[in-house]
Amino acid sequence: MKDRKDLTKFNRLVVKVGSSSVAYNNGRPNLSSLESLVRELSDLHNRGMEVILVTSGAIGIGLNRLGFSRPPKNIPEKQAAAAVGQGLLMHIYEKLFAEYGVTVAQVLLTREDFSNRQRFLNARNTLYTLLGLGVIPIINENDTVAVDEIRLGDNDNLAALVGGLADAEVLVLLSDVDGLYSGDPRSVADARLIPEVWEITEEMEKFAGGAGSSLGTGGMSTKLQAARIAMHSGFVMVLASASEKDVVRRIMAGEGIGTVFWPQGKLENKKRWIAYGSAVQGRIVVDEGAAKALLHNGKSLLPSGITGVEGGFEVGNTVSVVDPQGREIARGIVNYAARDIERIKGIHSREIKEILGHQDYDEVIHRNNLVSSL
Ligand code: GLU
Repeated sequence: MKDRKDLTKFNRLVVKVGSSSVAYNNGRPNLSSLESLVRELSDLHNRGMEVILVTSGAIGIGLNRLGFSRPPKNIPEKQAAAAVGQGLLMHIYEKLFAEYGVTVAQVLLTREDFSNRQRFLNARNTLYTLLGLGVIPIINENDTVAVDEIRLGDNDNLAALVGGLADAEVLVLLSDVDGLYSGDPRSVADARLIPEVWEITEEMEKFAGGAGSSLGTGGMSTKLQAARIAMHSGFVMVLASASEKDVVRRIMAGEGIGTVFWPQGKLENKKRWIAYGSAVQGRIVVDEGAAKALLHNGKSLLPSGITGVEGGFEVGNTVSVVDPQGREIARGIVNYAARDIERIKGIHSREIKEILGHQDYDEVIHRNNLVSSL
């Protein structure tokens, strides 16, 4: 599958719309943008497609309704705004979708709904049931209860995780940019739109830095994170401009709009969960040799290659493995707690017992529990 025309065969679609398309900069809802989105999604739904909408905008709209003229100072203010704004947002969606006779449902998720297997399965069952009942689920992060440690924080990542949760075939990210560029189009004169991406390169990462609009949290870097999740979860992602006319319908008709990110095979479920579902609890720093062994030779992580440990993680937690430059090269589930790794780092596995008094494993992370293609 590497042809835009293949998109015409897809039936299950996640569409994510960002704060900048849902609301104006002053926080008032952008009704014309919302109206055309709802009309388009209703039409795809009438055609028989299964559609899930991931929407931002709750915080922005809530702040406006509460009369804030400045950005929120602290998390509780943001959470209060989200609580007000989410209701207003759903009211608008409910009203607009009702004009086309489409039933919608509100689903609010947090990181834990992806990291906890039972909750993951519950959320998945609910989504499947809603789709089976002909309903369009409208999803946002449950900002009102999600504090920093358990927050995903941006809806690009949320939408990509929802794509995996619902076994979507395609994720359409609608934004205020019309695709991925080879440089920042605002400052680089010959920056051009990249129509197709098969691999996310370091160069792309470099110019993707920086945040997006004043109300949203995204920017290009979260879009690339979403693309990585899609590419390793086996579904297509298209990044396009929300202001393009009939954009979703035209994407699904195979038109070459925006940037398409093609899937790179599918990680097995457990590895997908390690890479994107589970919450990262700390970092392990490794030397060049170990980095190479993990990245290119599919090896397990042994104590000998470890040079540093950060965070107070326990056995069974997911940690991020970084190279000497601090770049994340893998994620995996640890066989030893942080305090023990601190004592056995840099040594040979046969000395573990002598130092700790027990040796449950030779590896700190076994390769079966390690994902290096993030
Ligand atoms: N969940 C946030 C909201 O509804 C948006 C997060 C984002 O901009 O990605 O306001």
